[in-house]
Amino acid sequence: MRIAPLAAAVTALFVASSTAAETSPDAHSEQVVIVECGHFVDVVHGKLLGETTIVARGDRIEKVVSGKVDTKAYMPAPNSRASLRYYPMPDRTCMPGLIDSHTHLTSQMSKSSYSDQFRLNPADYAIESTVYARRTLLAGFTTVRNVGDSNNESIALRNAVNKGLVPGPRIFSAGQFIGTTGGHADPTDGYRWDLQGDPTPKDGIINSPEDAWKAVRQHYKDGADLIKIMPSGGVLDESSSADNPQMTIAEIQAVVAAAHDYGFTVAAHAHGAEGIRRAIVGGVDSIEHGTFMNDEDMKLMKEHGTWYVPTIIAGQFVMGKAKEGWYPPQVARKALEVGPIIMGTAGKAYKAGVKIAFGTDAGVYPHGENAREFEYMVEAGMPPMFTIQAATLHAAQLLKHDKDFGSIEAGKFADVVAVPGNPLDDIKLMQKVDFVMKAGVVYEAGGKPVETALDN
Ligand SMILES: [Zn+2]
Repeated sequence: MRIAPLAAAVTALFVASSTAAETSPDAHSEQVVIVECGHFVDVVHGKLLGETTIVARGDRIEKVVSGKVDTKAYMPAPNSRASLRYYPMPDRTCMPGLIDSHTHLTSQMSKSSYSDQFRLNPADYAIESTVYARRTLLAGFTTVRNVGDSNNESIALRNAVNKGLVPGPRIFSAGQFIGTTGGHADPTDGYRWDLQGDPTPKDGIINSPEDAWKAVRQHYKDGADLIKIMPSGGVLDESSSADNPQMTIAEIQAVVAAAHDYGFTVAAHAHGAEGIRRAIVGGVDSIEHGTFMNDEDMKLMKEHGTWYVPTIIAGQFVMGKAKEGWYPPQVARKALEVGPIIMGTAGKAYKAGVKIAFGTDAGVYPHGENAREFEYMVEAGMPPMFTIQAATLHAAQLLKHDKDFGSIEAGKFADVVAVPGNPLDDIKLMQKVDFVMKAGVVYEAGGKPVETALDN
């Protein structure tokens, strides 16, 4: 990522810089960013702290101190390639970069989505995804787990973000969905017979444990980071049931065994109680949506240490749009059946002590509105601090990357966001993120995009 040192003043006091930072491959490691926060959410101890200063060097956090630091001590030597940026934010509350554990960055549902799939090519979705990635980052989400696309566009997007070609969150991609014939992952559900073809493991469609191994290995070959399966019906496909079981335990176990060979975690979309039970017993890492999760499922999740990613906002959104006529009749019926239930399930799971990671199903609703989920989680009965921990520390644990991010501590990636005021008093402030730093690069300050960081 090219950094033009002088242009990023924004609301920050730009202290000092140098020549040629943008041409030196090492320039980034010589950049220091000092972020002075009026308050600080300590997600590790679940506490709101007072004035705290974060010093980032290169892409990592060098130190976190109570109060201020002497900025003069960080002034680069004259003519050095190093630079220093200073962001005094006395009225802001800082916290770790947010993590959405359930996004679909390569599409966004609209009234025309069902016919678009006959008009748009993978390249169209890939280009759209760069816009959604930017919106997601500027909303404060510095990391996402992208749990499924149609043609591995999210793997290409991840690579483009990693190369610094497009701004976006750090992406962990599941590549294509994996499911069974006629199920939630089948790309030809609802097509007339002569257009259906017969999707195979290469398309993410499996019908035996042997197929499961092949599909996971194909994902390894494609460059995925994790696996997403569909052990129960879903809402937005054109089949009849949102909750019937759609994979056998043997198929799920085969996916999990194959995934473990390649160091992948497994996320399981599941609405129905039986699909959820099979996924937990089969060894998946997380249950997504979990709408009709029963007491037995919750008990099993605690026993197996399975994470729950509720996606309440998706339920609320599809319920609203079903009434506005966005979906084909069969989809609308399922949306009205599933939508209202998720919030209650999330509240029950929280009370039962199930591990919860923040996730939203972004793409089902407009990208960039991810932080509305915080409000729904609080409405479901979760304390505001818990919701922020779910979107930082817990989501990083689910990704098995809590050594690298999820909290603001020395040695971790310098992922920091800030909101005006105290989000523990008013959780809606999470929708007002106006400072975003990812890996030591500031993308937004004073509520304005930092164009030098966004523009290549
Ligand atoms: Zn989803």
